[in-house]
Amino acid sequence: MLELVVVRIMLARAGRWLASLLAVTVLAVGGCASPGDSPAQAVQTPKNIIILFADGAAPVQWDFGRYSSAVLRRQPFATTDIVFRDGTLGLLATNPHGPYVTDSAAAASAMSIGYKVVNGVVSITPDGVPRRTVMQAAKAAGKRIGLVTTATIYDATPAAFSINAKSRRDSQLLVDLLVALEPDVLMGGGADYFLPQGTPGGKRKDGKDILAAFRAKGYQIARDTAGLKAATGPRLVGLFADEDMEFELDRDPAQEPTTAEMAAAALRALSQNSPNGFVLLVENENVDTSAHANDAASLMRALWAIDDAVKVALEFQRRTPGTLVIVTGDHETGGFSPTYALKDLSSLSSSNRFYAGDEQFRMLERITISLGRVKEKLGRKPSGDVLDQLIAQHFPGFRLDPDLRQLVLGQKTDERNFAYLPQNALGRMVARQTGFYWGTGGHTPEPVAVGAIGPGAELFRGYQDNSDFGKHLHRLIQGK
Ligand SMILES: [Zn+2]
Repeated sequence: MLELVVVRIMLARAGRWLASLLAVTVLAVGGCASPGDSPAQAVQTPKNIIILFADGAAPVQWDFGRYSSAVLRRQPFATTDIVFRDGTLGLLATNPHGPYVTDSAAAASAMSIGYKVVNGVVSITPDGVPRRTVMQAAKAAGKRIGLVTTATIYDATPAAFSINAKSRRDSQLLVDLLVALEPDVLMGGGADYFLPQGTPGGKRKDGKDILAAFRAKGYQIARDTAGLKAATGPRLVGLFADEDMEFELDRDPAQEPTTAEMAAAALRALSQNSPNGFVLLVENENVDTSAHANDAASLMRALWAIDDAVKVALEFQRRTPGTLVIVTGDHETGGFSPTYALKDLSSLSSSNRFYAGDEQFRMLERITISLGRVKEKLGRKPSGDVLDQLIAQHFPGFRLDPDLRQLVLGQKTDERNFAYLPQNALGRMVARQTGFYWGTGGHTPEPVAVGAIGPGAELFRGYQDNSDFGKHLHRLIQGK
């Protein structure tokens, strides 16, 4: 397995070298200067752009993915080991219009339209002007467009890359705007606002069946993994969950495909009838959701899931010169801090410490349930017996200290920036025995990494603003 991956990575490297040698590139001298563009910079224009997006991932998350992948999967981590190492690497400041700390809507909006917006707003600037999104620009340039996410397809990131709306919460309107944009590929969760109230899972209040409307327009519709495998045409809507798709630890592989399987299906569809190329966004939202929960085991698997999709994108790039692959995130979630812990509270001596290491990664690997699923199983009135049973069954080697047990059973928090209960308390149980601590249940302003490989990648080098990322994408889509 390892050999295969290594060969694949070597092939990918050779392919990129060939691609850079052979690709017919349009050299454009930067004319209209915008912040972040260096004047007179020659830029290659990609035909296809694939954006792999881990919501909630900053450098600390990527490195956690790299290290855990090496220790537990014995696999290279393509994001760090290929894209960051062999491509260009930059950092993006993430602050929105107003506060220092961003939400996903404001961050993705800046990365899509090239301007700062207020938290919660979808690609409309504070002066009330809807600005052109990445996907609108791609469509106007004659490119095919695709959106893939493990969240609902109308969630903040895919929405901000596509449409304009005053609030990220107006789900039915967001779906209507997405439908009006007519992406060639839509994949993820969120079937609820595609189906009318009164049908299974449906929540639409206007009685419309949006899936039927897509089918009538000639789209193939997939509702599970087998359906996705069978959908080989150029236009595809795949909705695999009524709301968000599951964490890897809880996922039923027959019902929900992996992020990599969705990415592969999207590339198969978008590369057909595609004379002007395409822009594809592939998001793993569970990186963010698991970090809000302070769920290190689920975070690790979400990072592996997006990295497997990065591998799919790099393979596509090897076969298809002129493809730019970008890997990034929108903000850091959780103030994630792998560090040390005392073995117990009997002594403060350094001899009573351990540091998070291979043994602690193996403890994470033995956890067999997400903290979100534990919450569901505990229900509204958690019982001590059910809790003890869940810990014994799914968290081998872990013990729940009395103070944390009390927080779980009482559904209380002991600090104001930990609002996800019982997940944050259980996350601290894991932290105490592994050293994988968290500073918050929310977002932090740590700059995010952006790695790019392929034509145009050099634009993303260095320390920039997240609005510069959007400006660069528009420039590359317009081919100048
Ligand atoms: Zn978040």
